[in-house]
Amino acid sequence: MAKRYAEIGKDCVACGSCIRVCPVHAVTVWRGVTAVVDKVRCVGCGKCAAECPAGAITLQNREELA
Ligand code: SF4
Ligand code: SF4
Repeated sequence: MAKRYAEIGKDCVACGSCIRVCPVHAVTVWRGVTAVVDKVRCVGCGKCAAECPAGAITLQNREELA
């Protein structure tokens, strides 16, 4: 599993740009209000964060699994 995953912050305006650039289709928009990342599917590439006009996406380190 990738070491990082994308997290959507509160500044998301549901523009859909991150959905279009995600290579593994990990992002969906929830009720037209905010984007949501499927953490399991996300490979941490950062393309969504680079594309987000609102600067709402940050990459987080996954917690080490025991
Ligand atoms: S970091 Fe990459 S894989 Fe993860 S949601 Fe963003 S574009 Fe998709
Ligand atoms: S690109 Fe940014 S503002 Fe647009 S839907 Fe994705 S997280 Fe939200």
